[in-house]
Amino acid sequence: MHMTYPELALLIDGAFITGAGRKSEPVFNPATGRVLAQLPHASASDLEAALEAAQRGFAIWRAVSAAERGKIIKRAADLIRERIDTIAVAMTLEQGKPLAESRGEAAYAADVIEWYAEEGRRAYGRIVPSRVPGVRLMVEQEPVGVAVAFTPWNFPALTPARKIGGALAAGCALVLKPAEETPATAIELARAFVDAGLPKGVLNIVFGAPAEVSQHLIASPISRKVSFTGSVPIGRHLMQLSATHMKRTTMELGGHAPVVIFDDVDLEKTAAACVTAKYRNAGQVCIAPTRFYVQEKIYERFADRFAAGARSLVLGDGMDPTTQMGPMANARRVEAMETMVADARDQGATITAGGARRGNHGLFFEPTVIANAPDEALVMREEPFGPIAPIASFRDFDDVIARANGVPYGLAAYAFTTSNQRALDVGRALKAGMVGVNSFAVSHPETPFGGVKESGHGQEGGVEGLQAYFDVKLLSHG
Ligand code: NAD
Repeated sequence: MHMTYPELALLIDGAFITGAGRKSEPVFNPATGRVLAQLPHASASDLEAALEAAQRGFAIWRAVSAAERGKIIKRAADLIRERIDTIAVAMTLEQGKPLAESRGEAAYAADVIEWYAEEGRRAYGRIVPSRVPGVRLMVEQEPVGVAVAFTPWNFPALTPARKIGGALAAGCALVLKPAEETPATAIELARAFVDAGLPKGVLNIVFGAPAEVSQHLIASPISRKVSFTGSVPIGRHLMQLSATHMKRTTMELGGHAPVVIFDDVDLEKTAAACVTAKYRNAGQVCIAPTRFYVQEKIYERFADRFAAGARSLVLGDGMDPTTQMGPMANARRVEAMETMVADARDQGATITAGGARRGNHGLFFEPTVIANAPDEALVMREEPFGPIAPIASFRDFDDVIARANGVPYGLAAYAFTTSNQRALDVGRALKAGMVGVNSFAVSHPETPFGGVKESGHGQEGGVEGLQAYFDVKLLSHG
């Protein structure tokens, strides 16, 4: 297995471009604090070159049949699977998650790309019966053109895979700006596409100061579609920019997923499932379970089991095979954890597991449980995006639904019960883009992934994910 970190580069017009006099920034390993490599920034003329290459790439790519496009995209998915060890090592080094999680994510990214490769062949139009004799009304789906996309650091393979897969399968070209904190994973995915025979210019990768890059790419008359995954405030900002230039948007923003646990569940099994889901990727997951509401009768026992589960997790460098939870991906998250824990304590909650940084190097924060978290606590209102699990008790159905739906987010929501009727009722009552009942599995290549309320709009995955990259055109033939 390669233990080295790949060379960092921009990808413009089919060529990987390294430093050469450009501005750059260091990329850090969050487990050690050491610098892994320097990441070149795209200059304004690089950004322009990427957009122009995408425009030329689009003209070539849209003329390739959907079947042929699908073959190239599928080949890229196969190459990602072949290179899974290299990709997973790069991901763990730059992001911190345990190597097994990195491997799982890279495999999932390949599945997403493969699914889009197949679905792109099924982008059907329709013939509509006309009111006028002899007139034929055809509704066709046309690729929107050049798309620009911005992906975050928490899932360095999956978030680019969803945008690259959707755009390319629809026949669009893409300029992607992955997170500067985790660039190598996206570069390796792009390498798989280049090696699979993707025409030059169809996929371009740029890095830089995020606000400058997004301003440039969104304002350009070349781009026709904006797709963003990240926080609500940045999503709002990019929506404003997109509105000024009348660009279509897909916004995958933050979440604050409630987990409603009724008193009829198998307590041990449910608590174990909650601990696993909560601390995956050190809680830096937009669909992570983040507010646990447990029915009064089982609250104490559940909270104890949960805290014991959290305390038993092995925290460490993701490259160590015994590690169950890695470091936080950046220092901003560690500071946010400290603020949320201090606020909860001030508001009368009890920290029953973790609650502090660990070690004197790297960005480690302990798996944390906050018992009796009041609804007013910061951690119950704002997305924690870290390894903190606030737990509160509830009385009855109406009480918990009001509290579960009582935040501006609406990405994922979960509930556990053995009652069929309650399962149906709670599934309908929870206001979210994705609801898991007795399951945390709400993300699949085949199904729509997206939120409501401030969690954003539009979907990735499913047929909806492909449609995000199509314009609809009516052709009326007399
Ligand atoms: P942030 O809002 O500063 O950045 C989020 C992402 O957006 C980063 O990848 C960043 O590079 C990018 N970004 C920032 N400014 C941008 C701009 N002007 N144009 C284009 N891209 C820009 O937050 P952060 O500190 O990196 O992460 C913390 C918060 O982000 C979390 O609390 C969470 O809410 C959110 N987040 C959400 C997801 C998700 O999957 N929905 C992923 C990562 C982060």
